[in-house]
Amino acid sequence: MRIFGIKVSIHHTFIWLLLFPMFLVGGAGLVGWLLVVFSLVLMHELSHALVARAHGIQVEGITLLPIGGVARLGMMPEDPWIETKVAAAGPGLNFVLAGVLFLFARATGLPMFAAGDSGEPAVYQATFLGMLFLANLGLGIFNLIPAFPMDGGRLLRAQLARRSGYLSATRTAARIGRWIAAAMALYTLASFVRPELPTTLLLPVIALFIYFAGKREEMMVAARQSFARGGLLRLFGIPPAAERPPTDMGRPDYAGEFGDRSDIIDIEGRTVNEQSPPTPSAADAFRQLAEEIDGQLGR
Ligand SMILES: [Zn+2]
Repeated sequence: MRIFGIKVSIHHTFIWLLLFPMFLVGGAGLVGWLLVVFSLVLMHELSHALVARAHGIQVEGITLLPIGGVARLGMMPEDPWIETKVAAAGPGLNFVLAGVLFLFARATGLPMFAAGDSGEPAVYQATFLGMLFLANLGLGIFNLIPAFPMDGGRLLRAQLARRSGYLSATRTAARIGRWIAAAMALYTLASFVRPELPTTLLLPVIALFIYFAGKREEMMVAARQSFARGGLLRLFGIPPAAERPPTDMGRPDYAGEFGDRSDIIDIEGRTVNEQSPPTPSAADAFRQLAEEIDGQLGR
């Protein structure tokens, strides 16, 4: 499926997410609502992807996962302003949609909250319009949690990068993200002891994603920067990878499971393959380096 020329695919586990409530809970309504929520997630991802494309960043596609969505983007320039725009595009769209729904409710007089069936006037339930409004608000706010590599964490890194450069900013943002992930894990543990605390099984999954994806991206920025500087290689007269023409090795094929990519997820969650893996160019350069050393020794 293509939308605005962007390839949209659905991860096979997503089908289980839909079948599960249908058979176990018997809720066609729940399935319908899940489809609505994931349409919102898809629009959120498209918003990231279209803004990225407008800045010349390659968009590989969007994948819908049970825990959210993934916009797979090519290498993003180390430009805080571009990163800010791409990261803000997702939550921004959700806030705009929430605003439009609110104005629509005001203009038409349709209620967003109505008294529940229980007959108690004090109990109010969200109507479909209200649920749509809350879902957009929730998606927007949740993704602004400054837990790199979620959207909020990317906005934070972009701000930090203006002052301290990308590597240091990424380290700080990823460290904050890990603290938030730890807090999410602790909260999940607490909810086992005190069942009255509201929680979801998604929370520990999200915490794990923030922890590992943040760590991974931190390592990639470090690898790319030390590589871009060229360090040792320049001594041997080899230009850094970025200045050499691409080889036909291209990108490695990460066609496997989503955990296998360098993608970063945020909850709904955008996964940005932002720093494409340094592996091919690194391997390429080290091979050249080895050849160079061999040549020197041979002389
Ligand atoms: Zn997002």
